[in-house]
Amino acid sequence: MAKINRNFTKLPGSYLFSETARRAAAFAAKNPGKKIIKLGIGDATQPLAPSVIKAMHDAVDDMAAKETFKGYGPDFGYDFLIDAIAKNDYAARGVDIGIDEIFVSDGAKSDCGNIGEIFSVDNRVAVCDPVYPVYVDSNAMAGRAGDFGADGRWSNLIYMPCTAENGFAPELPSEVPDIIYLCFPNNPTGAAATKEQLKMWVDYAAKNGSVILYDSAYEAYITDPEIPHTIFEIEGAKECAIEFRSFSKTAGFTGTRCAYTVVPKALVREGVQLNSLWARRQSTKFNGTPYIVQRGAAAIYTEQGKIECRKIIDYYMNNAKVIREGLIKAGLEVFGGVNAPYIWAKTPNGMPSWDFFDMLLNKVNVVTTPGAGFGPSGEGYIRLTAFGDSEATKEAVERIIKLL
Ligand SMILES: *Cc1c(COP(=O)(O)O)cnc(C)c1O
Repeated sequence: MAKINRNFTKLPGSYLFSETARRAAAFAAKNPGKKIIKLGIGDATQPLAPSVIKAMHDAVDDMAAKETFKGYGPDFGYDFLIDAIAKNDYAARGVDIGIDEIFVSDGAKSDCGNIGEIFSVDNRVAVCDPVYPVYVDSNAMAGRAGDFGADGRWSNLIYMPCTAENGFAPELPSEVPDIIYLCFPNNPTGAAATKEQLKMWVDYAAKNGSVILYDSAYEAYITDPEIPHTIFEIEGAKECAIEFRSFSKTAGFTGTRCAYTVVPKALVREGVQLNSLWARRQSTKFNGTPYIVQRGAAAIYTEQGKIECRKIIDYYMNNAKVIREGLIKAGLEVFGGVNAPYIWAKTPNGMPSWDFFDMLLNKVNVVTTPGAGFGPSGEGYIRLTAFGDSEATKEAVERIIKLL
């Protein structure tokens, strides 16, 4: 008889966004006349940039002619895209990343979830709390998280609380982890990490032989010129870090699917380059991102593409400002929204975050995300996203101000 992976049965029930969607749908069914505004999920709403659309149309034409048709592409991405990434995302910031250190994929979620395969099951893993659930759940599936306790914590994970008290900057854990997940600018708290803060982590990982898994999906939202966009801006990071990037938030590719992961050749553990392990994993289990999509992604690096993408990001960041200022006006304690498209706010009078979620849904028909869904230390907070329509965002904020 086939035996299942019992680790899956240890996972707690409903995924956060299924539950918020379920509650919103139940409310909508009972109140058909009400206009619900969704500021919950971090998903792009603006159309792709015209340069991207043009490049994708041209790529479809390539597929239509025998001379230019493309079958399977290179395992790790087309040169035209990898070269553009190396030049624009790294060399332009003074970081030298080789083209054989970049792996194009169909998403940072897949890469964050799959990267665990190149690490032994007995590594100790540290995550921020609150956290993007993919890091935690994928480690639980691999059997690396232990058991899920009544306190909402996995027995084998090291939790690094990120709260208002420490400015949402994780502190070095007392127990040394082998693998450390960091995400800056952060989802869900909207916090960004300074050079000094990242340097502290790089030095710590170097000293202990740990590996940092650095999720930089929101780097395009950084407005402060002092904030690093890539962990490889920090000296020594190539010896201890892997970086995940995505076109999802940078260029609205959430439905189009393109991302990449950087595994430096200098990253060696137990005498083995992690780059070669990831290359082997990807070439075995992944057959490449569609040519049409990679052409679209490459277009964001053209002069015109950059201008167009900047405009879309500015649109979202203007929403962030509206939410931020509105919630402050409503009397809430507000974080994020400056270097990230997420606003993280304390609930009024320490109200539990699911209660505040229900209150906003039922009283003013605004869907948010309860902080507790991102981890125990998210209790007492809610997250709002800046990815909505600007008019709807303004209306949602006005309703919240009126309510509070
Ligand atoms: C949205 C997001 C990603 C991007 O995932 P894709 O699979 O590339 O769409 C990665 N990490 C975090 C923290 C995110 O919020």
